[in-house]
Amino acid sequence: MTEICEFRIVYEFAHLLFRTDEGKDLGQISKSIKVVRLTKEDPRFYQIPIIGNQIRERYNKSFFFGWGIIRKYSKKELEATTLLHLKIKTVFEPAGEECGTIYDETAVCEVCGANRKQLSPLNLKQGSVPKKDIARTIAGEVVVSEKFAAACKQRGLKGLALEPIIFDKGMSNFFQLTALSQIELSHNTIAGINPFDLSTSSEGEIYKCPKGHTIGLNLLSEPCILNSQSIGEYDFFASKQKVSVKRGLLRPEPIYFCSQAFRKMIEEEKLTGFEFEIANIE
Ligand SMILES: [Zn+2]
Repeated sequence: MTEICEFRIVYEFAHLLFRTDEGKDLGQISKSIKVVRLTKEDPRFYQIPIIGNQIRERYNKSFFFGWGIIRKYSKKELEATTLLHLKIKTVFEPAGEECGTIYDETAVCEVCGANRKQLSPLNLKQGSVPKKDIARTIAGEVVVSEKFAAACKQRGLKGLALEPIIFDKGMSNFFQLTALSQIELSHNTIAGINPFDLSTSSEGEIYKCPKGHTIGLNLLSEPCILNSQSIGEYDFFASKQKVSVKRGLLRPEPIYFCSQAFRKMIEEEKLTGFEFEIANIE
């Protein structure tokens, strides 16, 4: 596995650590950002937070905004693992709450915002769902295509629930995907604000709920799972503990996992929007 970190460096400060011909500009989207990729073996990786602190102290500005961790696996590595971490990269708006989906908030955790209960079918806006076989709303509602639903049914995949989604103008041909089985993250799963900041709270928000609902704002490591019998029985799972926080429409979200049979289906049916990483079972 190769792990690469991508940073959206503020252009005016990029020269403090990077060559001018390094990375790529975001072109017309934003001339103020330079996208740089580097591994943790690159000594400059550890310079980023140091320079970041200097810039903050001197100018009260940030050195980087967005960031991401890209893990590349060989075919052999992906085929050898029992459990895969399923990543849903495409996010869209509006969320269900904005389109008339009814939620019961009475049992919601007052610290982290986890545990709201969906009472109605997922309502979404027609034309807002991306043309992928899987995507999620900014509130973490997972939407899949008819093609995905049919393939799951045909292959008899277990552990997933698919409920029809309703559009403002009537029934849709999309489904809401939820997991019927939860598995537990181990304490070896690392979460934090960004790769340099593992803080569990900031500016009044608490990212690691004392009641155990959430583990942090963002997942930073490959997920580590406590072994459970259900791993061999089902094809799709959600983590018991969640990441992220209640902020506007955002809600804590589980991490999703799947079996090799699930991944095989995605590859053979050429379903889009799915990314896989390795999940470690302890
Ligand atoms: Zn909580």
